[in-house]
Order: sequence, then C-alpha cells, then structure tokens
Amino acid sequence: MAADLYTRYMAASDTWRAHLDRCSACTAEERCPDGAPLWERLVRLQDAYLTHLRTKKGTS
Ligand SMILES: [Zn+2]
Repeated sequence: MAADLYTRYMAASDTWRAHLDRCSACTAEERCPDGAPLWERLVRLQDAYLTHLRTKKGTS
C-alpha cells in the first residue's frame, strides 16, 4: 500500500514535470487550465505520502 502510494506520487510528479517542460503558460506559482489538475493531483498525493511517513514514524 505504501509502495503503491509512493508509485502514484512519483507518477504524478513525472506527469506534472513533463507538462511543465512543454508548457509555456505554467510556472511554479501559476498553472494553466491543463496543468492545474496535474498540479493538484501531485499536491494531494504528496500530502498523503508525507502524512503516511509521519504516521509511520509516530507509531513505530
Ligand atoms: Zn500548463
């Protein structure tokens, strides 16, 4: 499950970076309509992954 979350987080990161490379409208502060959902997905997964790491650390 953790590996799956990490895999999805990395995939979202790759997808976002690939878009950012090609897109002239997207910046670190502002996303275009195409980039916004990719960015939001990455942020959600990043948050979930970091929360998972903190939870794991706290309980072990
Ligand atoms: Zn874009």
